[in-house]
Amino acid sequence: MAELRFFFGTMGSGKSTQALQIRHNLAARGLNVILTTQLDRQAGKVSSRLGVEAEAEIVDTKLNLFELARTAFEASGLDAMVCDEAQFYEPKQIEQLAQVVDDLHVDVYAFGLLTSFQGELFPGTARLLELADERNQVQVEARCWCGSRATHNARLVNGIQVYSGALKVVGDTTDEEKEEAVEVTYELMCRKHWHAGLRRRQGEQLELLDQQTGPAEVIDLPLNTPTS
Ligand SMILES: [Zn+2]
Repeated sequence: MAELRFFFGTMGSGKSTQALQIRHNLAARGLNVILTTQLDRQAGKVSSRLGVEAEAEIVDTKLNLFELARTAFEASGLDAMVCDEAQFYEPKQIEQLAQVVDDLHVDVYAFGLLTSFQGELFPGTARLLELADERNQVQVEARCWCGSRATHNARLVNGIQVYSGALKVVGDTTDEEKEEAVEVTYELMCRKHWHAGLRRRQGEQLELLDQQTGPAEVIDLPLNTPTS
């Protein structure tokens, strides 16, 4: 029986490494595998910090994942899909992955983050949790600076933890009005310290919105806008 399997974890928990490993193991057995990812720093590839990488199909918001799978299935057969950065896929694309499992009987292995820097489920992740046959936590233990288990991804803009801005920001960007470099980084924290940062910043939130929302909107996926 084909299954939709969802593997989730924090940033740096080795999800891409595991995605590449599964793809490698399947391909080594002579199986046909499609690897997909969202926009990565290196276009068209899934790479891990261990230096392994592989060619991948880029999933933009318009790509129909079922049609992608069906085309490959009819051309040369398809045994599995390995989907990295699945938190950024559209909910309807997650439904297409379920259709790949149910109609084509092809296994799907999806990897993604559970929650955003705002501490809420990504829309794609929520749909995966709802539809997956199997949900697995990627068990690479990350630690907060205090030593507790890190469960939350904090976004820092120029070193300051923020709670507003686009859901997806890649790399550094520039504030065009001020012509200043804006450095966007992420840090793993325990829930306590993620919340502590939130409380500390609440009073400055309006000012922060004013200053940071502009430059942060590099890639604004229409995930927050209700379309249906
Ligand atoms: Zn902590």
